[in-house]
Amino acid sequence: MRYFTAGPSQVAPTVAGYIRDAMEEDICSISHRSKDFERIRKGAADSLKKLLSIPEGFHIFFLGSATEAMERLIQNCVKKKSFHLVNGAFSKKFFSISKDLGRSPEKIEVGFGEGFKFPISVPDDSEMVCVTHTETSTGVMVPEKDIASIKIANPKVILAVDMVSSAPNSDLDYSKVDAAFFSVQKGFGLPAGLGVLIVNDRCIEKSLELQKEMSIGSYHSLPSLLAKEKKDQTPETPNVLGIYLLWKMCEEMLEKGIDNLRKETEIRAGMIYDKLQKRYSLFVKDAAIRAPTMIVVNTPDGSAQLIEKLKEKGYLIGSGYGEYKDKQVRIANYTNFRLRDVEGLVNCFEK
Ligand SMILES: *Cc1c(COP(=O)(O)O)cnc(C)c1O
Repeated sequence: MRYFTAGPSQVAPTVAGYIRDAMEEDICSISHRSKDFERIRKGAADSLKKLLSIPEGFHIFFLGSATEAMERLIQNCVKKKSFHLVNGAFSKKFFSISKDLGRSPEKIEVGFGEGFKFPISVPDDSEMVCVTHTETSTGVMVPEKDIASIKIANPKVILAVDMVSSAPNSDLDYSKVDAAFFSVQKGFGLPAGLGVLIVNDRCIEKSLELQKEMSIGSYHSLPSLLAKEKKDQTPETPNVLGIYLLWKMCEEMLEKGIDNLRKETEIRAGMIYDKLQKRYSLFVKDAAIRAPTMIVVNTPDGSAQLIEKLKEKGYLIGSGYGEYKDKQVRIANYTNFRLRDVEGLVNCFEK
């Protein structure tokens, strides 16, 4: 079976080999306070910084998931107000987390399948603006230049970007944001169970300010994560295998060249969009905000039969999200996907 599902998604073909290497090197038995672990953690953080061109002054923290990253960001960087660009289920979740933590978030909300009109006016007292680069529930992306424009217009605010289904494909300029995060089971083609939070010193400063007056959490507060990062360690016993696999995957992508991988992703996305729009209507009407990594089409006659037919041929695609479950299908196109698998999938649509 080839998994074109939103996430978890098809694990990259090289992962089995990396897991075997990890077993041979006894990675899963070592102490997280050992030099061997420090080498893995540093290897993963350094390779990731190189892969995504993350500038100086940023920190890489390892968490349990992307959802945890949302919670940590609100907890550590927002005293009262976060401001959210909401256009689907994941951006809405970021907003709800802020509410659940007792903050008073505000939002600008547009319908499923729609993007935002820039410039966006951000309330003056917002401490953090939260943007979802690619809304996995709808296939809408916020173009990188629009994300950067928020920071240019609101230099004081902390800009946090959910990159879960777009990293490492997006060439986001990390110097124009303060925080970004992803989990590894989508764009990186790895087993689930690891979240990565990228924050700059501005976020750390803010967390230290907040810590003087309120709780910012315990072992995964930014100051606690920072203290351990300085020693190439983590506060708790982490997902060592996950960090090791991320390191190997970043090295693999660096070897292949991230620009080449992004071009190939664009080509595969073009193939999927072209082929599908001959038969179905695309959900995202505006071509400029159609995500290359998440393709959503309308299936007015129901999605279940189509999903079942493709499954019989060895391809698993996703249903629509939430209330669109039966009215749409979603097809992921992540960085590690192979051209021949995508060709196989789109050829099924000819018949
Ligand atoms: C999947 C997803 C998440 C949640 O990721 P977890 O690893 O399950 O926490 C958050 N945001 C977006 C855009 C996603 O696609």
